[in-house]
Amino acid sequence: MISKKMVGLVKGSSVIRAMFEEGKRLAKEYGAENVYDFSLGNPNVAPPEAVEDAIVDIVRNEDPLKLHGYMSNAGYEDVRAVIAKSLNERFETSFNENNIIMTVGAASGLNVAFKTLLDPGDEVITFAPYFGEYRNYVINYDGVLVEVEPDTTDFQPRLDKFEAAITQKTKCVIVNSPNNPTGVVYSEKTIKSIASILEKKQKEFGTSIYIVSDEPYRELVYGDIEVPYITKYYRNTLVGYSYSKSLSLPGERIGYLVIPSEVDDYGDIFAAAGVATRILGYVNAPSLMQRVVARCINEKTDISYYDRNRNALYDGLIKFGFTCQKPEGAFYLFMKTPVDDDKEFVAAAKKYNILIVPGSTFGCAGYVRIAYCVAYETIIRSMPAFEKLAAEYGLK
Ligand code: PLP
Repeated sequence: MISKKMVGLVKGSSVIRAMFEEGKRLAKEYGAENVYDFSLGNPNVAPPEAVEDAIVDIVRNEDPLKLHGYMSNAGYEDVRAVIAKSLNERFETSFNENNIIMTVGAASGLNVAFKTLLDPGDEVITFAPYFGEYRNYVINYDGVLVEVEPDTTDFQPRLDKFEAAITQKTKCVIVNSPNNPTGVVYSEKTIKSIASILEKKQKEFGTSIYIVSDEPYRELVYGDIEVPYITKYYRNTLVGYSYSKSLSLPGERIGYLVIPSEVDDYGDIFAAAGVATRILGYVNAPSLMQRVVARCINEKTDISYYDRNRNALYDGLIKFGFTCQKPEGAFYLFMKTPVDDDKEFVAAAKKYNILIVPGSTFGCAGYVRIAYCVAYETIIRSMPAFEKLAAEYGLK
C-alpha cells in the first residue's frame, strides 16, 4: 500500500509526461514524421561541442578518485567560485563560493529551497500560468501553493491580486522568467513592483518573504531582451539556475542555487540548504557535470535555432487566425484556444496528430502550450495540420 499522499500525487501526475508517451504511441502508428509532438520541453539543439570535449578531457585527465568521490554537499568549492565570479561579471553582484550550492537541476534547487524554508502550512505564491510541478514541490513540504490569477493581456503578473494574496503565512514567492509556459520575460518595472510590494508586506507582517527565482530559461531570450537579475532588486532572493536548457543537458541533472549573503538568516539558510541536499537524497550534484559546467562557463546554446522555430510557428499560427503573444524567451508559445475548454481543443488537435498541452495544467484554462524545441522541419510539416485545426473552428 503506497502512502496516502502519494496516491494523490500519482493521480495528478504530469499530463505532459502522459502526452509524451502518447506521442511515442502515435509515432509507431503513423510514422514519426507524421506526428507533431509539441508536448515536452526537451531541448532539440545538441550541447555545444565544448561540453562534449570537456567531458572526455576531464574523464581522461583528472584524478579519478577525486573526480568520482564524495564531496561537500554544497559541491566543489572551486566550481562554485567559478560560477560566483561569472555571475559577478555578468550582473554586477558580489557573490563567492559561499553563496552557491550545486544542485541536481532546477527541480532539486527548488526542492532544496522549499525544504530549507517551509514549515507545514506556509504559503508559496506563484503567478499563473506556472510550471505545474510547483504544486508537487510545495506539497512535498506540506506547504500551500497560492495562485495569483493571470493578466491575459500581456501575462505580466497581476500586481493588485499579488498584493492581496500575501498573508502572515507567505514564506516564498516563485518568479519564473523567462516563463514556462508563456515565453514572457518579466520587465524590470514588474520586478521593481514585486520587490516594493514585498518590502511593504515584510514590514507590515514583521516576516521574511523570500523570492525563489526559478531560472532555467535565463539564457534563452530573443533579440535585446534583458532579464533582470532579481537579487539586485530584492534582498531576500534565492536564485535557482539550471543547465538543462542553457547547455541542453536535462538528463545530466546539473544546476545551482544562489543564496546571497544579504538574505535574512543567510548563515542558517546556507547551512540548512547543504543538509537539505544531503537528506533529500541528492547528497551532492553530479561531480563530473560540476567540473564540466565550470569549464564551459561561457558556453551558450544555439539560440538562433529556437528563434527560427519561434518565428515560423508564430507566423503560421497568426496566418491561420489563431491568437497568441510572440514569446520573448524560453521555447514555448502560449496560444488562446478558440473554445473555452482547452482540453477539448487539445483532443481536437490530436486528431491531426498535433500534441500540445492544455493551459489548465499551468493554472490558465483557455490556452494551450506549444513547445517549439523541436526540429524546424516538424514545425514546417505541422502547418497544414494547424490549418485544418483552425478551419475546424471556423478561423480564417
Ligand atoms: N522550472 C521550470 C519552469 C521548468 O520548465 C523546468 C523544466 O522544464 C524545471 C524547473 C526543471 O528543470 P530541471 O530539468 O533543471 O530540473
